[in-house]
Amino acid sequence: MLKIILLVLINFFVSPSFAEENSPSNIQFTQQEKDYIASHPSIYVCTDPDWYPFEAIDQQGNFYGISADLIAILSHRIGINISRYPTKTWAQSIKASKDGLCETMSFLNQTPEREEWLVFTQPLMSDPNVIITREEHGFVANLNSLSNHKIAVPRDTMIEERIQNDYPNLKMITTEDERESFRLIDQRKADLTIRSLIIAAYTIRNEGWFNLKIAGQVPEYTNHLRMGVLKNQPILKSILDKGIATITLQERDSIVNNYINVKIEKSFDIYLVLQILIGSFLIFALLFWWIRKLNSLNKQLEVLSITDRLTGLYNRLKTDETLEKEHMRFKRTQKTFGVILLDIDFFKKVNDQYGHQFGDDVLKAIANTLQTHSREVDIIGRWGGEEFLIICPETELEGLFTYAEKLRVVVEDLHFANDYQTTASFGIACCQNNEEVHQLIERADRALYLAKKQGRNQVVSG
Ligand code: GH3
Ligand code: MG
Ligand code: MG
Repeated sequence: MLKIILLVLINFFVSPSFAEENSPSNIQFTQQEKDYIASHPSIYVCTDPDWYPFEAIDQQGNFYGISADLIAILSHRIGINISRYPTKTWAQSIKASKDGLCETMSFLNQTPEREEWLVFTQPLMSDPNVIITREEHGFVANLNSLSNHKIAVPRDTMIEERIQNDYPNLKMITTEDERESFRLIDQRKADLTIRSLIIAAYTIRNEGWFNLKIAGQVPEYTNHLRMGVLKNQPILKSILDKGIATITLQERDSIVNNYINVKIEKSFDIYLVLQILIGSFLIFALLFWWIRKLNSLNKQLEVLSITDRLTGLYNRLKTDETLEKEHMRFKRTQKTFGVILLDIDFFKKVNDQYGHQFGDDVLKAIANTLQTHSREVDIIGRWGGEEFLIICPETELEGLFTYAEKLRVVVEDLHFANDYQTTASFGIACCQNNEEVHQLIERADRALYLAKKQGRNQVVSG
């Protein structure tokens, strides 16, 4: 996880500090600059021998790192050979520069102290400074908020120079190099250090300081890494600036990636990959489960929206909808359909005599019986309180009558608790040409009324 955060932070914060479009052949030098280049085919640069991945010296004394690569490009573009002045420490480099032994210093922040003997080029690169603490330390939003904290920083650095002025609340411990600063935090002899994000990313990764973390940023301490040029060589500064302006964003990125990303990729962390895989699997499993649950809930909702809760038959809404559909089919095919409207006789008395619950049970039992004795194509709906409507597709009046009569007998034969028996009255009608649904229902309703009027427990066709 730390690696990912580091990579994201680096890509987000490390900003380009030079133009993107210039090409080396475009450099327009003044006559004065051309004269300088002609008379100075080779110059020295004083570097930090121990600031990897920015800059370092290998066993053979070769200069390498991000700044070395950038300076190599620069040297090629301006046509001046820039070679490293041999020193063993950063302090020696500063002394050599002050003594005028090297015309330039590589990759350094501009500070008032350094301005005493140097002028500064445009930044070769910018890189924020971050606060490093032990893992257990909380997020640091503001360095002012820390009291009695010991900060370890390498000596003669920009941070050392500024921190004493800006944050007198921090107790300064100066160290010989980066590693010592990290070690002091690890050993609890210091609480924090402030280092470049690139350096921190590299050091924490490569030296395995996994108990350390990046706990905050110090935006005002962003490293604008420039070249310092001896004050008496202003022409050289302007030549270098023109060369720096030709270094493209892609060139800078690929150099930084060479030293940071590739190394991080190399140390492939199987646990991190496993964590990501398991995490992704869990998220997909959860999504899959949720989608299935949602589908099933939707189906349940759909069923609920068309079902009568007491009897489990279609409700009035669905019955109306089915009527319309059947009617349309009739208009298309000219095959008529019939409706049976049935109403339980003297149902009010059942409630009055045995209670509402018993009435409900009777309604459920009748609904169940209607369902059992109907054809698969017939649709039965609860039309109202104790009224049911049966829609019979492709049925002529004769067949409809026989069917209703059968149902009448079935209802009549039902035996309930309390020795209760009941009957129902039926009004039936088949849809006629040019008849609308409401007219069909009105005819069935009138027939039902007639059946009631004529003594109930009978089928009347409308
Ligand atoms: P008729 O033979 O003329 O149809 O007489 P009826 O008593 O069946 O008719 P009426 O319309 O006067 O009464 C219908 C009764 O059905 C009234 C109401 O309490 C009852 N009822 C309607 N819905 C329900 C229900 O969901 N559960 C119960 N238990 N009773 C219901
Ligand atoms: Mg009724
Ligand atoms: Mg009734």
